[in-house]
Amino acid sequence: MAEVTLGRTMITVNKNGFGALPVQRVSVEEAGRLLKKAFDHGITFFDTARAYSDSEEKLGLAFEGIREKIFIATKTAAKTVEEFRRDLEESLRLLKTDYIDLYQFHNPAVCPKPGDGSGLYEAMLEARENGKIRHIGITNHRLNVAAEAVASGLYETLQFPFSYLASEKELELVEACRKADMGFIAMKALSGGLITNSAAAYAYLAKFDHVLPIWGIQREHELDEFLSYIDNPPVMTEELEAVIEHDRKELLGEFCRGCGYCMPCPAEIEINTCARMSLLIRRSPSAGHLTEASQNMMMKIKDCLHCGQCSSKCPYGLDTPSLLERNLKDYEEILGGKAY
Ligand code: SF4
Ligand code: SF4
Repeated sequence: MAEVTLGRTMITVNKNGFGALPVQRVSVEEAGRLLKKAFDHGITFFDTARAYSDSEEKLGLAFEGIREKIFIATKTAAKTVEEFRRDLEESLRLLKTDYIDLYQFHNPAVCPKPGDGSGLYEAMLEARENGKIRHIGITNHRLNVAAEAVASGLYETLQFPFSYLASEKELELVEACRKADMGFIAMKALSGGLITNSAAAYAYLAKFDHVLPIWGIQREHELDEFLSYIDNPPVMTEELEAVIEHDRKELLGEFCRGCGYCMPCPAEIEINTCARMSLLIRRSPSAGHLTEASQNMMMKIKDCLHCGQCSSKCPYGLDTPSLLERNLKDYEEILGGKAY
């Protein structure tokens, strides 16, 4: 059984964390069943956020009575000390606990530091002194903010997207975390659904012993897949290397990761699906992407106001409006009979 120690937090858990964003989309009963099953089979690290609607509440209900046997990471997107304190109290209440193992700033646009005038980092320290949180972390989608957080020495963990599609710069970030004795929590290890071979994703991350992947889990078959990796962690084989090489070639360059940070769109375009339709249609069963509802969704791209809001918010620096146009053109050609 592979384990990961998250840097100087000394939190040591199985190398399969549970990303609890998707449990928002299932009933309380179903979420409880999935979370308990995960725990019963060896998963002890659960990552949620104040921003994930009722995810914290579902964790709180599922883990009553076994709190000390698991590690809970949650996040606040507070911009003021008042919001920070309110978020923390609300998270503690919903999670039915009096402490949070890892409290993270949720994708801040700038890295909070003591003395920056926001008071946010000081609020973290105060919460740790009061025993309400045990460790301080940060999550981000922007390479520059993440790198600044690592260099600052202020954070015990970094949560950042990381998969075998990582660029050189992203690999440098992972290495910088190791040198700084920080835990690295890998989100989007399946790159928002573009990676369909989870064994290849796992085997790649296995090479990084300070990296903990958190798998977003909504369905039982997804959970079962990752649970099977507890007893039989996939190891890198020539076959899996070939899968990775093929995906890297196909997904090289600029592609939408589906993170949704560019939304909402004033023209109500579902950017995080539409901007990667060409990939989705080729990499997953296509029928679901060709329904009337999907076609209506894609046609909304024609309403784009070219306001530029999306590209200014995209952490990957994508020219989102032109990416949408390219996806629409391809989609219309597919509807017209183009082979894909
Ligand atoms: S540029 Fe188009 S897609 Fe982007 S936010 Fe504006 S209207 Fe929406
Ligand atoms: S365009 Fe950028 S911000 Fe929007 S979903 Fe794609 S990767 Fe995320």
